[in-house]
Amino acid sequence: MGPPGAGKGTQAKILAEKYNLIHLSTGDMLRNEIQKKTAIGLKAQSYMNGGNLVPDSILLSIMKNTLTSLKDSGTIVDGFPRTIPQAEGLSLIVENLHSKIDYVLNIHVEEKILIQRLIERAQNSGRADDTEEVITKRQKVYAQLTAPLVDFYSNNIIQIDGDGSIEQVTQRILEQIQ
Ligand code: ADP
Repeated sequence: MGPPGAGKGTQAKILAEKYNLIHLSTGDMLRNEIQKKTAIGLKAQSYMNGGNLVPDSILLSIMKNTLTSLKDSGTIVDGFPRTIPQAEGLSLIVENLHSKIDYVLNIHVEEKILIQRLIERAQNSGRADDTEEVITKRQKVYAQLTAPLVDFYSNNIIQIDGDGSIEQVTQRILEQIQ
């Protein structure tokens, strides 16, 4: 977990390679649906372009299907859960699969730095939601709907300082999970 621009995707990819995990990024999955013009993609597009979250029911259905089909594979999920109902739904999915969540990592970075990072990334990301206005909106949505998950997972959350180079942040994560 972490706000937009915290480096979730970057770090998840590194961890997936290192530990041979399947990397599931809900943002990438949704962008893929949009590209393929599927029913989910068509529904998700306007929410994403406006910097809003896609409805919980859609995410829960995608993740239930995906995690069920991957049942016995180690997975790192990036971008989900993003709301309390999603976290509650994930607990049920995991329970039904007789599986477990090993680690919850929260990468935090000061908002000023995040906005700066995202504006830089916007130059070549090609993402429709990487405009200054939508970037600010995404930070607000994060604070309102996703930040409360820190309390939801307070028993097993690992806090990671996401300020610094990619390698430094990876190192901080590895120190906590090894
Ligand atoms: P970032 O973390 O930079 O916002 P993502 O690629 O993770 O980028 O997400 C992009 C957008 O996709 C979000 O702003 C949201 O609209 C949608 N999205 C991704 N994951 C979820 C989720 N779990 N619940 C609702 N919407 C989501």
